[in-house]
Amino acid sequence: MGESMPGSAALAGGRDGHRRLAELIPLVLNGLADGTAERGGAGPAGGPAAVAAGVAALTGAAPLAAATGVGAEQALTELSRLLAAGSVDPADPACAAHLHCPPLAVAVAADVVASALNPSMDSWDQAPVASELERELVTLVARLCYPGATAPDAVVTTGGTESNLLGLLLAREPNPAVRPVCGRNAHHSVARAAWLLGLPAPVLVDCDGERMRPSALDETVRGLGSPAVVVATAGTTDTGEIDPLRDLAQVCRRHGARLHVDASYGGLALCSAKLKPLLDGIADADSVALDAHKFGWQPISAGLLAVREAADLAALSVRAEYLNAGDDTEAGLPDLLGRSIRTSRRPDAFRMAVTLRALGLDGMGALVEHCCDTAAEVAGMIDRHPGLRLWGAPTLSTVLFKPVDADDELVARVRRTLLEAGTAIVGRATMSDGVWLKLTLLHPHAKAEDYRPLLESVVATADAVRLPESAAVR
Ligand SMILES: *Cc1c(COP(=O)(O)O)cnc(C)c1O
Repeated sequence: MGESMPGSAALAGGRDGHRRLAELIPLVLNGLADGTAERGGAGPAGGPAAVAAGVAALTGAAPLAAATGVGAEQALTELSRLLAAGSVDPADPACAAHLHCPPLAVAVAADVVASALNPSMDSWDQAPVASELERELVTLVARLCYPGATAPDAVVTTGGTESNLLGLLLAREPNPAVRPVCGRNAHHSVARAAWLLGLPAPVLVDCDGERMRPSALDETVRGLGSPAVVVATAGTTDTGEIDPLRDLAQVCRRHGARLHVDASYGGLALCSAKLKPLLDGIADADSVALDAHKFGWQPISAGLLAVREAADLAALSVRAEYLNAGDDTEAGLPDLLGRSIRTSRRPDAFRMAVTLRALGLDGMGALVEHCCDTAAEVAGMIDRHPGLRLWGAPTLSTVLFKPVDADDELVARVRRTLLEAGTAIVGRATMSDGVWLKLTLLHPHAKAEDYRPLLESVVATADAVRLPESAAVR
């Protein structure tokens, strides 16, 4: 650090950290405001080349990490603005491709104090109150999944990928010969988890449309000849559909198979009395994956894995003398190491706790309902639009559609054209009948009408992309 900028190395915590943060945070907020205004739309215009050129323009003038730094003020001002100008912003309704939520301001603000104090969740002596808050938060979430259980529990993960890995790990621990089984609609992380754990690739079960067929699961598990762990999905990635959980749980029970429900997308619908019936049967699962960085509106990452009984997590316990020595645990220091496969771990539960306290469960449920209701309305708008075709009625907040008379190539080109222009960020889903455009609506306030410009851009772009070809034919 140069002496010219002593403040660049100031700490965030301690008695005076808040003063330095009070100087720096406004710079970040100005950068956010200026960069957002500069961008103008949902995403940066010009695609990867323009974004790379924007970064090069800044680092060309002063390398990212030269021998002498530019100081905290300049670094924050320039790079915050660059980040905002070159980001896709999920708080813009036209940014609707993925399960990529616009975080709530309350959650982001909570992250400031969590980051300043930096509790690490691997031992009580690094996270006294953060670990206690985490315990309350995870118990609350576990009770949502298992309302009838005596001691349900949950652990915080980085997201559905890690939760699915843990779900399969808990199935394998008592039973190394366990065979993973999942629907053809399952998330790719299920197969990856099997691979990481040294298990055979999952046996794939046929679906009715996009939902796992219980009779097909029954046949598969019956013919397996070894114990199974079945992964069902509550909110599929392509269409947001929910497997018939109660029927699948019955099949699992009949064959003594374990059931893990990947509710990374749909899980937080449990906060809504109106939507909860969609997840009927989820309490019959042995483990449930949920993501609060989808419905939940947390900054990444905010995953959870819930189990019916706390003892079900015993397989994760591990002893490291420097973190959870036996005599420390006996003397009453909580043992946190067995609550994750990670060691150092961010207090992601803190902002989830702040958010739930601020909104209440009903408030959270209302946001989920808003997204699902809006998706139904947008689907109606698409269905009535002469230039668009709707794939089907949405279950949660995912809407598949395409321009009329569009082949796969046209659909893909429309998506890329809108992305490159920064006009709209739309997803894609490859279904049995070809490629569709996908909207995954996670904006908790946008109204159906706010999506009309996006729909019109799709129609206009499809017409524009079609033109040169028809001109060439002539
Ligand atoms: C998002 C998602 C995942 C992956 O979760 P990450 O949080 O991205 O790790 C897995 N399964 C489903 C159904 C999902 O929606």
